[in-house]
Amino acid sequence: MTDRYAVIGNPIAHSKSPVIHAAFARQTGQDLVYERILGPVDGFEGAVDAFRAAGGRGLNVTLPFKLEACAYATRLSDRAEAAGAVNTLKFEGADAFGDNTDGAGLVRDLQGNLGLALRGRRVLIAGAGGAAQGAIAPLLACGVADLVVANRTASRAEALAARFAARGPVRASSFEGLAALRFDLIINATAASLGGESPPLPTGVYQGCALAYEMMYGRGRTPFMQQALAAGAALVADGLGMLVEQAAEAFELWRGVRPDTAPVLALLRQET
Ligand code: NAP
Repeated sequence: MTDRYAVIGNPIAHSKSPVIHAAFARQTGQDLVYERILGPVDGFEGAVDAFRAAGGRGLNVTLPFKLEACAYATRLSDRAEAAGAVNTLKFEGADAFGDNTDGAGLVRDLQGNLGLALRGRRVLIAGAGGAAQGAIAPLLACGVADLVVANRTASRAEALAARFAARGPVRASSFEGLAALRFDLIINATAASLGGESPPLPTGVYQGCALAYEMMYGRGRTPFMQQALAAGAALVADGLGMLVEQAAEAFELWRGVRPDTAPVLALLRQET
């Protein structure tokens, strides 16, 4: 029987995961089908149970279910434990293994696709939501020299910095407090671009910045990317590479084979 996988979220119609995983399966000769599941907002657990009962082997989990997926899992990877969120589930009998591949996907995109070695770099993350939370431990594990978290709601940035302090040099700042600081890498992990806005970063922070990275994708050159280029960033990138890389990590967990992401990323870039 062909193995079944899916992405579950709400909304889900926009998800590119089926295209990505179908391409990985073709490339690696894996026999699987990959669907979209619109999860009821109050019915995540039931939808997952039904998928498993129908033979489902694994799920990608997206908004708003990453915390519920974490609670659903019977076992967690270290990185899911650190992130406090799960974006990948693997089912084997009664076992539901929860992983988080978002941070690894980000790091692979930065270092592999975009050529930015992270060791010794000064990094700013704007935002303290789920995406930022999943990125902090993987960035610290790469040996960044300084990691500053700035968020609209300052207390959330402070809580994240405190939570990850034992893993490396991470600290919180207000947006205004960034004015005199300079960074090699600035990551926009806020949802500001959804509303056509840029996070309120002082323009001076972009001076000497090697890369301004927008986690969102599919929106063209966002206000953050435009501001970064205008204020001195050498390069901007969106989060499409992160999306493809996190998918490759999930695919490897499920199938034991690592797909080549470059042709799939090129395919998606053609489509957007
Ligand atoms: P989230 O948990 O809802 O967090 C949203 C964050 O954005 C919070 O820190 C929030 O600040 C901040 N924010 C929202 N509107 C803002 C505004 N107008 N100005 C400044 N800050 C604002 O969302 P998330 O899951 O972390 O996702 C964040 C972004 O990452 C989204 O754009 C998402 O599409 C992207 N993402 C991309 C990938 C990928 O694979 N490329 C994966 C995951 C996420 P407060 O705390 O003050 O509310």
